[in-house]
Amino acid sequence: MQAMVFEAVGRPLEARELPQPRAERGQLLLRVRACGVCRTDLHLLDGEVEVPNPPRVLGHQIVGEVVEAGPPGATSRAGTVAQATGNGPEERDGDEMRGLRVGVPWLGWTCGECEWCRSGRENLCPRARFTGRDIDGGMAQYAIADRRFCFPIPDGYPDTQAAPLLCAGLIGYRCLRMCGDAERLGLYGFGAAAHILCQVARWQGRRVFAFTRAGDESAQRFARELGAEWAGDSGQAPPEPLQAAIIFAPDGALVPAALAATAPGGVVICGGIHMSQIPAIDYELLWHERTVRSVANLTRRDGEEFLALAPQVPVRTHVSEYPLHQANRALDDLRHGRFVGAAVLRPPAD
Ligand SMILES: [Zn+2]
Ligand SMILES: [Zn+2]
Repeated sequence: MQAMVFEAVGRPLEARELPQPRAERGQLLLRVRACGVCRTDLHLLDGEVEVPNPPRVLGHQIVGEVVEAGPPGATSRAGTVAQATGNGPEERDGDEMRGLRVGVPWLGWTCGECEWCRSGRENLCPRARFTGRDIDGGMAQYAIADRRFCFPIPDGYPDTQAAPLLCAGLIGYRCLRMCGDAERLGLYGFGAAAHILCQVARWQGRRVFAFTRAGDESAQRFARELGAEWAGDSGQAPPEPLQAAIIFAPDGALVPAALAATAPGGVVICGGIHMSQIPAIDYELLWHERTVRSVANLTRRDGEEFLALAPQVPVRTHVSEYPLHQANRALDDLRHGRFVGAAVLRPPAD
């Protein structure tokens, strides 16, 4: 099969021909129909987040069709068996699953027995394995996934439009939950995650204020089209103080900027996996019960909730499609903000 492979930090992905993988116990073999590109992939390429055992196929927003299911039962490289949750594809047997369209997110495996797994916080499992970092991902014609960590894709979403729901949408949704019932919501960095969240937040009756790189008029226009009542540069003050802000851009200087834009009692959520250093601040900025927190990864519950919610809104994703072999171009365009919305790769059918 064709795959785009990460080999070392600072090098572009390498186009390679790899053997088609096989599904073992508890796994699904998927024909990849679409795979979203995420800012996390840039952090992996740049070495800001480590890929522990390269070479590795990146890609953690996979929409795939089940070609083959391994025998039922949990897989575990660590020798433990985690309990499945919900009524996902894990409940069905192999024959029933063939042809089913499923989504594979960043969270690829958890231990099921640590204090975080046992308390509904599997996103924090210290032994968690992540798709497209610890496990080969979806920048290939085929991928293998643990069936307990796959979600059914809601009907009515074409493959490419469903892909960005699986990380941008899902982790964005977890960030939004951390905002409680805040009505005035700021979104810093108006990329793949914010363009989905803006739609969900408006549907929930919130007011959205969008912050972009200075002078990025196309992103600001895009934010207004999606229902933001104000859009401006990240250094600007919003017309009214925010009750919550979510930072998606990987720039630590946005933390004090967002705190300064936030009303007493407000919350600032850092939604990315990596951020440049946060500058020192005067206590005054944090005073009056403001909170700064991060959001890490996702739980399967987040996935089930968000994928049930998305068609109700309904969330419409704006995607730029690239053939699989142009993955490096898609990543470069993401790095330089050359498209609005999300980038999605399409592998060739064989
Ligand atoms: Zn991601
Ligand atoms: Zn665990």
